[in-house]
Amino acid sequence: MKEIILIKNGELALKGLNRNVFEDTLIKNLKVALQNCGEHTIRKAQSTIYIEPSSEDFDFDEALDRVSKVFGIAAFSRARVCEKDIDSILTNACEYLKETMQSVKTFKVEAKRADKRFPLKSPEISARVGAALLSNYHHLKVDVHNPDVIVTVEVRDYAAYIRAGQLHGAGGLPVGTAGKAAILISGGIDSPVAAWTMAKRGLKLDAIHFASPPYTSPRAEQKVKTLLSKVALYCGTIKLAIVPFTEIQEKIAEVCPEEYFTLIMRRMMMRIAEKIAAYHKCGALITGESLGQVASQTLPAIGVTDAVTKMPVLRPLIGSDKEEIIKISRKIDTFETSCLPYEDCCTVFTPKHPKTRPTIALCEEAEAALNIDELIKKAIEETKFVFID
Ligand code: ATP
Ligand code: MG
Repeated sequence: MKEIILIKNGELALKGLNRNVFEDTLIKNLKVALQNCGEHTIRKAQSTIYIEPSSEDFDFDEALDRVSKVFGIAAFSRARVCEKDIDSILTNACEYLKETMQSVKTFKVEAKRADKRFPLKSPEISARVGAALLSNYHHLKVDVHNPDVIVTVEVRDYAAYIRAGQLHGAGGLPVGTAGKAAILISGGIDSPVAAWTMAKRGLKLDAIHFASPPYTSPRAEQKVKTLLSKVALYCGTIKLAIVPFTEIQEKIAEVCPEEYFTLIMRRMMMRIAEKIAAYHKCGALITGESLGQVASQTLPAIGVTDAVTKMPVLRPLIGSDKEEIIKISRKIDTFETSCLPYEDCCTVFTPKHPKTRPTIALCEEAEAALNIDELIKKAIEETKFVFID
């Protein structure tokens, strides 16, 4: 008998008229996520999505792992498909749930009868399945309040589905339903977490990285690509722009007051990122900043970096503690890569005494000796693009 994956949509159910767009995007994202898991079909009916393997080579474990990373899913599970016939349901439940039932002490059955033509009502289905399991597995007891496992039987359009428990989905909204934004990605802990956090709310991601060879090495660039490939498991392919930043940093070091160095550098990053993002139809920039974490992330410092862009800048970690950020980075498996000790362009020319209470006017004065437009134009012309998946 056939086994399938059943998927329950997340917040989608709330979206009224947009629901179809959301479900179609979710299915499109599932297709991409499952493309290397073996032959299968995906269909939806009544806010459930069915993934039905169509050949022996379908890799269930890999598919479940992939599904667990697709945003827009509340819960998912493996399920046995059987005929809509009570005897078939009873035989299949006892056989399919064998391993699960042997590993628990208590259970409860929940039946859902979506097909009202089925002759038994939901409570009768539950009672019959419960009785069959009890007579097959003598150690079992029914516990309706706090069971070790909930067995679910759903009688639907074409078939009946039997499953034990379900897994939590990744939540959030399907990637792409909220538009597209560009993450400014360093090799640190915070920016990959910021990327993941916004992808979770339905944003498709482009990425922008500033590299300063020879001060930063090819290994540092590779680290950024590895981090993005881990985020891409959740959000699909990411287009990465690698912006050459050496000349700009050297120029700032040459002509600007040292205490403004980091702030001017960050203002240059934001100006360039905004241009690249706008050209590639992104509606926002994303950074991994967290209030007060370093001198360049105080409120006045954020104020002067924000002042050079018109595009919204999303800072999903602004109110998070480092511990909270690290917890997510472990969960999405970026932590260890982020901790590799390769230099970032921000750490290359760090002022001894960064300006603590900057103002926009003071920053403008400090960067007056730079030919900003020309530097930006050249950096953008020499930017290279790679796709990460
Ligand atoms: P992260 O852990 O993300 O590196 P951080 O705590 O080290 O953050 P900063 O180095 O001040 O903080 O950087 C703040 C934000 O600026 C980063 O989260 C990232 O969005 C962006 N950023 C920093 N360096 C780069 C870079 N080389 N290329 C692109 N964006 C960068
Ligand atoms: Mg950093």
